[in-house]
Amino acid sequence: MTAPAPRPEILTIAAYVAGDSQTPGANRVIKLSSNEGAFGPPVSAQAAFRQVAAEIHRYPDGDSTALRKAIGQRFGLDPARIVCGTGSDELIQHLCHIYGGPGTEIVMSQYGFTMYEISGTYAGSRVLKAPEVNLTTHVDSILALATENTRLVFVANPNNPTGSLLPQAEMVRLREGLPETTLLVLDAAYAEYVTDPGYDPGVALVDAGENTVMLRTFSKVFGMGGMRVGWCYGPLAVIDVINRVRGVFNVNIAAQAAAVAALSESGWVERSVAHNTEWRARLATALQAAGITVWPSQGNFLLADFATPRKAKGADAFLRGRGIIVRCMAGYGLPHCLRITVGTAEECTMVADTLATFMAAAGAADAANG
Ligand SMILES: *Cc1c(COP(=O)(O)O)cnc(C)c1O
Repeated sequence: MTAPAPRPEILTIAAYVAGDSQTPGANRVIKLSSNEGAFGPPVSAQAAFRQVAAEIHRYPDGDSTALRKAIGQRFGLDPARIVCGTGSDELIQHLCHIYGGPGTEIVMSQYGFTMYEISGTYAGSRVLKAPEVNLTTHVDSILALATENTRLVFVANPNNPTGSLLPQAEMVRLREGLPETTLLVLDAAYAEYVTDPGYDPGVALVDAGENTVMLRTFSKVFGMGGMRVGWCYGPLAVIDVINRVRGVFNVNIAAQAAAVAALSESGWVERSVAHNTEWRARLATALQAAGITVWPSQGNFLLADFATPRKAKGADAFLRGRGIIVRCMAGYGLPHCLRITVGTAEECTMVADTLATFMAAAGAADAANG
């Protein structure tokens, strides 16, 4: 018997595991597993979504013209150097296929975002992971792996799932150390949440040359993960090639309308970021008080370190039993950690209290077992 066979490397890809949204037996679920933003979608985005319902027989504007203009205005960027995608995931995939492929290499950080590995392997590239130090992207280990054969380097800054930030001077040093033919992809999905004053989401490096792009998304601070809208800001030549290969109507009519409206909702980002800054700190303090190590985070999530995989698994099961879903990190090679999204004040309090109860019980059990 013979059957169609995929390219062999495709079968080495482990399918992306999204954050769960259900847990058996719970009648109310608190979902803190996908960093979706604490406040739901902006009201104006919801209104635009409803309003467009009568128009959905029309194809969308294939160039997302109004959206690119609105993004350009909001962030002070040239709309001609922006391309929108079906989430930034789509753009990651195109970049890998455009610049990577069989015989090439892609470098990412050891605990970098999984989509780089999936898309890079799909494109046929060899994906190399640069060891991190203190769960932070390490420039020298990336440079040690980079050769003329390295077509792409992906850095999420801040990184998901670790939350760590690479200082701007280090990012500049990375760019300077890479071959000019290597495209550096700065994924700033969590840019808005960063409180470090020296942070640049990538605009400076994009503008400084022809070989760096910045990725952004509406899935996090704008609370629109279900709409699938992301964008890339880059040199004209890069934007041009993405436009040649992307889905002609990649961003649907509702997604475009909702994203334009979200950008116009006054105070949305400010309120979301103020909430996140406050509750990221409060949640970290509460978890630390319960005896859990918390890694410093510049995103809308915390990486909680339980020291052992057994304890992390136990904590995850305990939370699920109470209707709280966080993200297991075993797939990222961090089986002793759970990633917890900063939710509403109530959600943060509930997850902290529940974990405090778990840690007290686990401590008592450890003591009893000697
Ligand atoms: C969430 C996330 C994205 C965004 O993905 P979308 O496809 O735009 O929803 C991109 N990069 C990182 C690091 C993320 O965490």
